[in-house]
Amino acid sequence: MLLNIINEYSSDTQDALRNLWKALLVNVATVEDPKKILSFLNKCAVIGIDEKEKIVWLGIPNDFVYQQVKKFFTKPLTKSVQEIFNPTYKVEIITYTDLQQGNHPLQIDLKQLLKIEEKIVSPLLDESTKTKLTSYFGILFEPAYTFDNFVMWANSELAHSAAMAISKDPGNVYNPFFIYGNVGLGKTHLMQAIWNSIISNNPDKVVLYLPTTRFIDQVIKAIRFNKLGELMQKLDDVDVLMLDDVQFLAGKDKTQEIFHNIFNDFYAKHKQIVVTSDQAPKDLTLLESRLQSRFALGLVADIKMPDHETRVAILQTKLKKKWEQLDKELVDLIAQTVDTNVRELEGALNIVITRKHLRQQELTENDILESLATLGFTNDTEEPTTPSSGSSKPVSNASQNQQFTSLVGRIATYYGLTVDDLKSQKRTQDVSYARQIAMYFAKQQFGRTLERIWQYFGWKNHASVIYSIKTFEERMSEDDAMKKTLKQFADK
Ligand code: ADP
Ligand code: MG
Repeated sequence: MLLNIINEYSSDTQDALRNLWKALLVNVATVEDPKKILSFLNKCAVIGIDEKEKIVWLGIPNDFVYQQVKKFFTKPLTKSVQEIFNPTYKVEIITYTDLQQGNHPLQIDLKQLLKIEEKIVSPLLDESTKTKLTSYFGILFEPAYTFDNFVMWANSELAHSAAMAISKDPGNVYNPFFIYGNVGLGKTHLMQAIWNSIISNNPDKVVLYLPTTRFIDQVIKAIRFNKLGELMQKLDDVDVLMLDDVQFLAGKDKTQEIFHNIFNDFYAKHKQIVVTSDQAPKDLTLLESRLQSRFALGLVADIKMPDHETRVAILQTKLKKKWEQLDKELVDLIAQTVDTNVRELEGALNIVITRKHLRQQELTENDILESLATLGFTNDTEEPTTPSSGSSKPVSNASQNQQFTSLVGRIATYYGLTVDDLKSQKRTQDVSYARQIAMYFAKQQFGRTLERIWQYFGWKNHASVIYSIKTFEERMSEDDAMKKTLKQFADK
């Protein structure tokens, strides 16, 4: 509705909306960094006011910026609207692609409004300085780690889009940028993607990537040979400093102190710092608290294990890169079975491909499962000896079966279904959901093998059982209410 009438606004209405937008921006600029405002709100515009619902509509040029604006600007913008326009109004944002071109009548010149000068371009560093730095620090880079081959998914979106924003304007958007997450989930990949992107867009920038262990070695060497000054001088030439796996600074007090000084120097000069770690700053308790708090000054973003669909997409990307092909079902099976991290997912794919070449014929599901078993990923088809959790008292098979049947009955009743519904081929949402819960319990609490589970539910294919349970576990890990409901079933 709103989007349809924007083109019919009178010039008075356009003026009023533009003026409101200007006033809001000036107000937001009192609490937010103007450069950050410029990078995210540049093409945005106030595109309408709904007096009935008391909403100021802010148009956003594309979905990428939408996420950023929603996250970082909803609060300050709402506050501004309430301060300078009407205390009962709120801001809603909406993607309006007509703004993409940057020449819409409702847009304004933000640079001029916020008096942001043109970026001071750092003096070009000649190649020999770069070469000297490279040989001094022994910089290691992986040219294959780019944004193009990093598969994005919902739970790493913030880290991914912030990394892209930084690579376009290092030092000015999020500084420092702190990425954390478990091993093998793409932290180093993302960090080096920033490097790759900066050097291709800004060849004059000097980007230094150091694994923390190497940084520690450099510091120790510099102290021993009384060359700390030289180290600091080298860092002076660096525009972007990337330190990978800072958790290794734990317990290294002297190195931490030196890094703290380097950090402050970079920060004061608006030079970008990117740091990765296996934990959030607040959990790095073996680091000086002043470093912990420095790390949290900019943007802290985590990377989680990709969900099933993303794992499939990652496998497809890697297959394409290797010019290999694998049946969709088999790719699915690998993605279902390997759920630890992306590095292991890649390792699994390599083993499967090797087997394919050795065989010189199409692989079956069994081949895949056998290959994965060599990496310790089992398909769980052995008969259970004991339940995987529960009481320490041995429980007879008969009584276990009875307990399981009664649990499935409780789950079905809770969702207004029958046990037969759960055992049927029905795939409606409610039946699938209740069935997933029952399967989850069958595996987790009763230690049932996948084979027994699929037989109990009358299914023909164990891959879908794995998928069902995994999907449920993923959903549950983020749903506290669900955890409570489960506990209630389990406690009976
Ligand atoms: P970390 O530094 O978190 O331990 P890495 O960056 O070394 O993890 O990633 C491990 C491997 O997984 C790398 O080969 C990387 O390319 C790959 N990888 C991780 N996440 C993704 C992703 N989202 N898309 C594509 N490849 C990924
Ligand atoms: Mg790493």
